Amino acid sequence: MASISRRMVNPQIEELSRLELLALQERRLVAQVRRAYERIPFYRKNWPKEAATLSSMAEFLEIIPFQSKQDLLVEQEKMMSERVAQPGSQVVSVHMTSGTTGLGQEVHPLTRLDVEAMGSTWMYQAHWAGLQLGDAICYTFAVGMQTGGLSSFPMAERMASRFHQMGPYSTEKKADYLLLYQPHAFIISPAYLTRMQAIFEERGLQPRQALPQLKAIFIAGESYTVDWAERSIAFWGVNISEWYGLMQGGLNLCFSCETGILQNGQRGHLHAMEHRMICEILRPGTNEPVEPGEEGEFVATSLFREAFPIFRFRTGDRVKRMASVCSCGRPMMSIEAGTVARYDDMMKIRGQNLWPDAVDKLVFADVTIEEYAGLVFIDPQGRETVQVQVEFRPGACLNEGHKAQRVAAVVQEIQQKLNIRMEVSEAPYLSLPRFEFKTRRWTDQRRQGRAFIKYTT
Ligand SMILES: [Zn+2]
Repeated sequence: MASISRRMVNPQIEELSRLELLALQERRLVAQVRRAYERIPFYRKNWPKEAATLSSMAEFLEIIPFQSKQDLLVEQEKMMSERVAQPGSQVVSVHMTSGTTGLGQEVHPLTRLDVEAMGSTWMYQAHWAGLQLGDAICYTFAVGMQTGGLSSFPMAERMASRFHQMGPYSTEKKADYLLLYQPHAFIISPAYLTRMQAIFEERGLQPRQALPQLKAIFIAGESYTVDWAERSIAFWGVNISEWYGLMQGGLNLCFSCETGILQNGQRGHLHAMEHRMICEILRPGTNEPVEPGEEGEFVATSLFREAFPIFRFRTGDRVKRMASVCSCGRPMMSIEAGTVARYDDMMKIRGQNLWPDAVDKLVFADVTIEEYAGLVFIDPQGRETVQVQVEFRPGACLNEGHKAQRVAAVVQEIQQKLNIRMEVSEAPYLSLPRFEFKTRRWTDQRRQGRAFIKYTT
């Protein structure tokens, strides 16, 4: 019996038993694979002919190969002739991936049904977070040709929402618009929510009074600490809801439920939309599924994409499969909120593995630090060197002596907990980059070619 009050979007899915959900998933998978083989030259070329008569999930896992980003980037100029399902796919929109891996941007053609499915899937998060039809939503990410922004429109349409695109404007202006438009929710990255909180604090604004209609904040794009989640929920006074998504899987696919990103002080669940996708989580570098409670690579298969469905896409994203069942009682498997990261974010420093979120946890344990940036490079003597710059909150009113003590404490914490010596110094306020989406605080000069989208402050 569920112990919380649930807000159902589709009880026919959300009240299924686990076995019923898996049976539905298998039926949809078989139909999707057969259709793709029959109608898409790209798959006829790359799959064994048994795909035409596929009959089960087990057979799917045996015969259908994995896809990588590199596979999708090959011969994209043949997209419309070889990858779009024919007949019956009228392409109405083309989205691109963000290109943050540095490998290139994929092109994804979409039919009207594909666009609508993006919107209807995202509805789950909106309703579970407490939004109702007609509620106003502010969207803070920039909208270009990338799917992250473009997909917000069909969601807003499905929600009959008063929808405000604030992407092109400065943080100060975005804060003005939040106050002007009085949204019921806004959509933002965790690092940028921290920046917005600083603006509210500078102006002496209490969200409960300044944004009385606010019901929820939607976040995605980076990991965060439990402390950060607690502080942010306390400051904004509303539930924070996270999503995880990827273009190749059909977009936003795992969502917080009514309980949000924390449950009893622990990280919450992001429920996978398993009636619309197959979610495999595999041990890194292997094809073996992880056990509940383990971390692994997220591998996605879309069950609803019409124009160019993707199968067994290896995301390179590290997720943790939840061991416990969520108190909402839904049948979907779930991944842990706040810990999604990219495997290629992991750095090897002097033989040690370093995950950026491990440094986040130590640096942001000091609540007077608002932002930081890390740099890894080889010094003239050939040594791997790590420099970290931290920005203190002006509101913390620290003198130079206090700042020096806090910098020294960060150095010591990192040395003790991570066993890596880093040089830490203070940076002037607002001198470090803030990111629009997919926050990257680290620059590894040993690597090349990774460019990210930054916010103007
Ligand atoms: Zn739940």
